[in-house]
Amino acid sequence: AVPLVVAINTTMAARNGMLIRDRIAMEEARNLDTIVFDKTGTLTKGEQGIVDVTTTDWDEDELLAVMAAAESDSEHMIAEAIREEADERGLSVPTVREFEALEGRGVRATVEVEAAVAPGVDGDSVRDGDTVYVGGPNLLRHLNVELDAELEAFADEAGERGQGVVYLLRNGEAVGAVALADVIRDESYEAIEALHEMGVEVAMLTGDSEDVARAVSEQLDIDTYFAEVLPEDKDKKIVELQDQGKLVAMVGDGVNDAPALTRSDVGIAIGSGTDVAVESADVVLVENDPRDVAHLVQLSRESYRKMQ
Ligand code: ADP
Ligand code: MG
Repeated sequence: AVPLVVAINTTMAARNGMLIRDRIAMEEARNLDTIVFDKTGTLTKGEQGIVDVTTTDWDEDELLAVMAAAESDSEHMIAEAIREEADERGLSVPTVREFEALEGRGVRATVEVEAAVAPGVDGDSVRDGDTVYVGGPNLLRHLNVELDAELEAFADEAGERGQGVVYLLRNGEAVGAVALADVIRDESYEAIEALHEMGVEVAMLTGDSEDVARAVSEQLDIDTYFAEVLPEDKDKKIVELQDQGKLVAMVGDGVNDAPALTRSDVGIAIGSGTDVAVESADVVLVENDPRDVAHLVQLSRESYRKMQ
């Protein structure tokens, strides 16, 4: 039989928008030392839009048309922002073949162009069969791409403003970039403050750049952050914290958070999360509200007190 306290606990949890998939993990939540949050889409709303564009010698519209083409099959928030910008500018987007998503880095595609890619543009920028990449700093590192001084300066300025930068590479060379502004969820401030009051440390894990991670951490008063982490390395950061003797929870929503959710002592999937994230989690928070993480710890502590 299910012990009475646990039954109450589960009902209470459900009432608070929490689905308990593993009761033991729910009980362990009262002892958590550190809670690690995924940044994008969890503490922030996800990439919101393009705020700046730069090119080496291309036209801005050409750049965005080709970027949108490369991103046409990607479900990433960044891809959506780029397609939206191309749409707003009324660009005709070339078609691509051999699309490949490079998890945590960006996308690769081969362009098919017959004519000009943007109104008033001669169409010299890309040729049929050119391979293009769109991605962030992890992609540059992966492909060993060096930026010219102009792009470097663009990236530095965006970084200082806490904005992410995504580049277009053609034939191994960066030809332009866009800066994307993400917005921190209002609820994140309260969530972190509440956890701190409960004596829980807060960490952030992201594939995004060092600059963006630092800016978000400072704003939210986060204790530790891990930036430019590749999806396959996210779970290693959890192990690093566990090796310091800490009981660790991971909060995430994406496919690439699944291994970290599995590895953590308490895996928490948040919001509309993917099926993979939900399946890897011990607790599912139904609303996309980081404050529910603090409620979860609170509920676990209250249930424990009743049991004593
Ligand atoms: P997070 O860890 O913040 O959830 P991801 O692991 O999804 O983010 O992506 C990490 C980084 O990889 C992004 O910040 C971006 O620089 C780059 N990236 C990933 N997917 C794409 C894409 N489709 N287009 C452009 N850049 C991408
Ligand atoms: Mg994410």
